[in-house]
Amino acid sequence: MSSANPLVKCTVDQCTHYMPGDQCMAAKISIYNDETAARSSRTTDTLCKAFHPRKTVGDIVGAFHNSNIGGVVSAAFLSGTQVTPSVECFVSNCKHWQESNLCSARSIAVSGINASLNEDTDCQTFEPK
Ligand code: SF4
Ligand code: SF4
Repeated sequence: MSSANPLVKCTVDQCTHYMPGDQCMAAKISIYNDETAARSSRTTDTLCKAFHPRKTVGDIVGAFHNSNIGGVVSAAFLSGTQVTPSVECFVSNCKHWQESNLCSARSIAVSGINASLNEDTDCQTFEPK
């Protein structure tokens, strides 16, 4: 079993983990089916569980426990490398899904305009099997 991990490109700038350049500085993210959709049939049925709304300074500090901030981020800024989290995914009917909750896509696009809840975010790379 390969340890597949896609590059994450995210445009959810309302999230505490978002970094300019469509980067996600969370150490790990989890993609789920929406609570309302036990099984996703379109991209809007998926969500990023690691989404955390950016509201207060306290929220931002609180998000640091799941963060690549520090050495990895500053090294990435200096070298221009893309920061990307490890991805686990529970959307087992996506064609990119692999056993052990891995995603075999080369990269995934996470989006959610004016997101305030997890359900407002989507994995745009979802494709039904
Ligand atoms: S919504 Fe998900 S992928 Fe995007 S920055 Fe937040 S945690 Fe990362
Ligand atoms: S592309 Fe599919 S398998 Fe990969 S994270 Fe998105 S929904 Fe999950």
